[in-house]
Amino acid sequence: MKFKIVSKGDKRSNKIKATMKQYLIGFDLEYDREEPDLVISVGGDGTFLEAFHRYVHRLSKTAFIGVHTGHLGFYTDYTPDELEKLIIEIAKTPFQVVEYPLLEVLIRSKTGEKEDRVLALNEAMIKTAEGSVVFDVKIKGEHFETFRGDGICISTPSGSTAYNKALGGAIIHPSLEAIQLAEMASINNRVFRTIGSPLILPKHHTCLLEPIKDKSFLIAIDHFTRTYNNVKSIQCRVAKERIRFARFRQFPFWDRVRDSFVAEEQGNL
Ligand code: NAP
Ligand code: MN
Repeated sequence: MKFKIVSKGDKRSNKIKATMKQYLIGFDLEYDREEPDLVISVGGDGTFLEAFHRYVHRLSKTAFIGVHTGHLGFYTDYTPDELEKLIIEIAKTPFQVVEYPLLEVLIRSKTGEKEDRVLALNEAMIKTAEGSVVFDVKIKGEHFETFRGDGICISTPSGSTAYNKALGGAIIHPSLEAIQLAEMASINNRVFRTIGSPLILPKHHTCLLEPIKDKSFLIAIDHFTRTYNNVKSIQCRVAKERIRFARFRQFPFWDRVRDSFVAEEQGNL
């Protein structure tokens, strides 16, 4: 089996990377930057997002796993204490795989250039550099609302605990193939009216955003933001690709949610 380790770059993560690399090579596993079967991310969720985007072109062939060197992460749920056990488990391949849904975003331009297709693990956020965004929101080809506000966040189930949560969106279990639309400060008056609550769309229900005024947008895909000019439409739906996680032990999603957001509080009571 071929593996690759992506480190956050700090001293502690680099040290863990070096240890894991040395032991795994010792178990006759091959270090391969180009075509790894397993990508091990060492750092935080941000590091994991980087690792995901680096190997997003070979999702059907690469599985991911995350070791956290800071606080418990949603993608990096293995602790440095478990390193020895983890190394042995990895060396014993084949491993069990768990799949999570992804978001597909298609950005079409007015100038007829080839559409841009990107996959997000957490979310796509559509904003402008200045003022508010105005676009028609179509769901399954039907006009749903005309949105005016700071922007819209469209998240995956595993991304629902990230930016989406800060916007008041629901936490969605990643076994559900869905995407969630959460509004960012919508303007509601006699001219503009939006639903006002997050929407959860199932697989095959496509959401299309068609700009009315400005055609220039900032589109943030996970940790990376790009400016798009002359935008004709932005289409979002559940992607046909999925991310594959290598699983060596159980750590149910709701336990991770509890341990990340509520567990400490309970201890203080
Ligand atoms: P960052 O500014 O370090 O990320 C903000 C926080 O979100 C970090 O604590 C990060 O964990 C955490 N995070 C990332 N993915 C998560 C997930 N799926 N569930 C729960 N928490 C998650 O930036 P970054 O590390 O490059 O990560 C980019 C992501 O941060 C974006 O996709 C966005 O969802 C999120 N974000 C959230 C807010 C907010 O909640 N108001 C603001 C900005 C960005 P680590 O510390 O382990 O990296
Ligand atoms: Mn981070």
